[in-house]
Amino acid sequence: MSVGALTKKILEAALFDEIWDAMKVTFKHMFYKPITFQYPREQRTIPDAHRGALGLLRYDDGKERCVGCDLCEAACPSRCIKVISAEDKSLPLQRYASEFYIDITKCVFCGYCVEACPVNALAMTKMYEYSTHDKRTLLFDKKRLYQIGEQHLADAKKYLYTHNQEKNDDMFHDYRYFFPQSVVQSTQPPPRHLTS
Ligand code: SF4
Ligand code: SF4
Repeated sequence: MSVGALTKKILEAALFDEIWDAMKVTFKHMFYKPITFQYPREQRTIPDAHRGALGLLRYDDGKERCVGCDLCEAACPSRCIKVISAEDKSLPLQRYASEFYIDITKCVFCGYCVEACPVNALAMTKMYEYSTHDKRTLLFDKKRLYQIGEQHLADAKKYLYTHNQEKNDDMFHDYRYFFPQSVVQSTQPPPRHLTS
């Protein structure tokens, strides 16, 4: 190292040159508009397509949409859904999920289960604040899933509309409501092979 370079280095060290450089950067940024959010006092606007916690949905008349078909369970790549279905004795040919579990600690939020559901009973919400000290509470059961669905119903519906899985029009609603009704109101005798 030359004498000039060595002298410069000693002078910089003596005058705390790096500290002044850092202070210059700090001072400059005092006049910039901050881009950070003061979470949790400030919250971001979450887009409608956001994949947050899953929730189960009911029809507008309060009836559970889920028919316990297990398609969501089959579609889940993380194997974190468990559905136990049973026959609904009040409606012929109708089934429902008597138990429903999602281990949200294993969920990768891919949305495949929502896409697989034929009746749009599952939807993703904008809920993301469910950290806990007790991991066992993150095994969402049917009651919790319906609770999430009810608390975040508007967001869950927006998710389905945004992903083009459900339309917000009368024709769509009629189709959904007429399916179980048509089975109940049928006056046709059952086919012979079923009665013999
Ligand atoms: S979002 Fe994906 S990983 Fe999570 S439960 Fe649904 S299918 Fe499974
Ligand atoms: S949530 Fe949908 S796909 Fe899953 S069991 Fe219920 S009806 Fe079937």
